[in-house]
Amino acid sequence: VKASLARMDETEADVQAFITRNDEAALAKAKDLDEAGIPADQLLAGIPLAVKDNILTKGLRTTAASKILENFMPVYDATVIEKLNAAGFINVGKTNLDEFAMGSSTETSYFGTTHNPWDLSRVPGGSSGGSAAAVAAGDVLGAFGTDTGGSIRMPASFNGIVGMKPTYGRVSRWGVIAFGSSFDQVGWLTQNVKDNAILMTAISGQDDHDMTSSHRPVPDFVAGLDEANVKGLRIGVPKEYMSDAIDADVREVIQAGLDHLVSLGATVDEVSLPHTKYGVPAYYILASSEASSNLQRFDGIRYGFRADDVKNLEDVYVKTRSEGFGDEVKRRIMLGTFSLSAGFYDAYFNKAAKIRRLIAEDFEKVFADHDVIIGATGTSTAFKIGENIDDPTKMYYNDVLTVTANLAGVPAMSVPAGFSKVNGMPVGMQLIGKKYDEATLYKTAYVFE
Ligand code: GLN
Repeated sequence: VKASLARMDETEADVQAFITRNDEAALAKAKDLDEAGIPADQLLAGIPLAVKDNILTKGLRTTAASKILENFMPVYDATVIEKLNAAGFINVGKTNLDEFAMGSSTETSYFGTTHNPWDLSRVPGGSSGGSAAAVAAGDVLGAFGTDTGGSIRMPASFNGIVGMKPTYGRVSRWGVIAFGSSFDQVGWLTQNVKDNAILMTAISGQDDHDMTSSHRPVPDFVAGLDEANVKGLRIGVPKEYMSDAIDADVREVIQAGLDHLVSLGATVDEVSLPHTKYGVPAYYILASSEASSNLQRFDGIRYGFRADDVKNLEDVYVKTRSEGFGDEVKRRIMLGTFSLSAGFYDAYFNKAAKIRRLIAEDFEKVFADHDVIIGATGTSTAFKIGENIDDPTKMYYNDVLTVTANLAGVPAMSVPAGFSKVNGMPVGMQLIGKKYDEATLYKTAYVFE
């Protein structure tokens, strides 16, 4: 824990991965463990890890990187934090994100932008950019985040680390600040595949507080990893994932990774996920609709910030929300309420919901005779800070390869596959699996360890 905090002292001035550090409590917990001895049954005893600041931590400020929650102090822990506490982890701090996890670059945070440790002029990706940068900077071995449309995988790709978004329902969402409830999943970022599998084993499983969490038994994702091989593994590579829309330097690294898998006995076929091109519009309509409903609770009465100088109740709502939310959050609320409004529901929300079903069917068809789908995670390597922030449509289209897994609820991970020949930045390979088959993703990813 001391080494982790010392590393944060070295890197934070440049990287700015954390919103709130937890030094004192982390050191106290480490000291208690030292004195009591490390319990043999605790998978993460004494391991310093970081937590995205949209996951509730009792008594430790949780902001969702928004002014509206700037001083919000949770009175309970998210279920995932309870599980991690039971496993003995030590939380060294709360990491930066795009406000309410809405973004792909961590630039929409009220607390300022996080910088990519590989090149400080570039974004770390988003929205779990603080968690990814903390891992890539060597502050921690692992960090938790959330993935609604790519927010674990995109930052993993941009920072050269491993990121897992599990199957929808694998991990409890209780105590996670809701964005798009039918998409949101907690995920985690680590420096290697084995650590990633350890965190998955610790955090997964049914929770009475979250009716969408699954009763499926949780396998030990670490067991057997060392003996695993990819002989006979049937890989589908969607042609949409290797198109001109993906930068050539990215495709080159992915192709080399596929060649490596073939050399180890896997087979690769070209397949098609024909509705991929509708993924971005469908996702942004549906996720924004859910967000517009979820964010109603921030009204200036129940939580956090309340505007001054108000005349009546209506004025409390209007002024608090006008001053408390940033531009991107307001854009999503407007897009969401518009799509849900009586006059436009059929044209937008309903149509997007139908596309969601078609995208899920695209995956089912490919998985009928393939074990895993592989392509790039991002369309590019980490872009420059400021490059896309004034063009929301361009920013949204960066997510073309990640949102479909959330629309379909299937597990997906990003694993470092190499570096761009153009700018030397890391490139992530995306592995997408059948529902509840994260084990195959780990087995495949372990080849690149
Ligand atoms: N970039 C996507 C968005 O802005 C995904 C965010 C996320 O996964 N939380 O909605």
